[in-house]
Amino acid sequence: MEIRNIGVVGGGQMGSGIAQVSLMSGFQVLLNDVSDEILRKSRTAIEKGLDTLVRKEKITAGDKERMAGRLRMTTNLSDFSACEFVVEAATEREELKLSLFRKLDEIVPAEKVLSTNTSSLSITRIASATSRPGRVIGMHFMNPVPLMRLVEIIKGLQTSPGTFDLTMDLARRLGKEPVPANDYPGFIANRVLMPMINEAVYALMEGVGKAEDIDAIMRMGANHPMGPLALADLIGLDTCLEVMKVMQEGFGDPKYRPCPLLRKYVEAGFLGKKTGRGFYTYEKG
Ligand code: NAD
Repeated sequence: MEIRNIGVVGGGQMGSGIAQVSLMSGFQVLLNDVSDEILRKSRTAIEKGLDTLVRKEKITAGDKERMAGRLRMTTNLSDFSACEFVVEAATEREELKLSLFRKLDEIVPAEKVLSTNTSSLSITRIASATSRPGRVIGMHFMNPVPLMRLVEIIKGLQTSPGTFDLTMDLARRLGKEPVPANDYPGFIANRVLMPMINEAVYALMEGVGKAEDIDAIMRMGANHPMGPLALADLIGLDTCLEVMKVMQEGFGDPKYRPCPLLRKYVEAGFLGKKTGRGFYTYEKG
């Protein structure tokens, strides 16, 4: 199945990154979000990402213009009828994703694949909201998308071998290294990563150390490129909380209980880098 047009739902940090790498790999991209204002910010983020590559002489100014010229944006999901592959990267909330997949199923031709960039939610359940569960799959990009090589490819219970092969192949065409995982809460990446981040928040809450010291210990002691609290701020504390809740509910095991301090920060709107405040403070924009 030839893929030239990719539809991306959600123009936040992940959706913008996925759109950017798709443009860089020669695809036409249609990006959807709920408002023109958000989409304008998405375009700015994508162009900023491409400008950085021009500055580093990885692409030319002409390349950048061609890439940016292949980006179209819409607040109307009905425009996805011409998309040949969809990556959904909207906010990590199950009800939202189920409703988006019900709509996409009606709009996008039945033989096309609908993928989700969910960090933790059941691919099998999302697929069941559609009439094409064989053509629904998890395509879990890492943040920041233009820099990270891995894409975790998650097979739902009903995902067909053809859908799996097509998605693995597409990930390679996007310059990524796809690695398969089966459909259990948090898959592999977040099953291992999020309990560590959550534990770091407990260590902060209990006063075991200051945020800077917890991060320094994990950077230098475990050779991680960034500490768990700085990473949580990059991911978004709302996303971290949702992933912990999904694992807690999905496994029914109290070891996944989200740290109360993580909940409190999310309640306060301290979502990390994207809101300018999380465990650290950031300049907005
Ligand atoms: P984000 O908050 O930066 O962006 C989410 C975007 O979805 C927002 O722009 C929001 O307006 C949009 N949105 C909400 N409702 C929508 C709707 N009905 N239609 C279209 N767009 C809608 O979040 P993010 O970090 O980009 O995360 C997006 C997805 O990617 C989530 O499922 C998350 O779990 C997953 N993910 C995140 C990371 C990470 O490190 N942040 C990594 C891998 C996967």
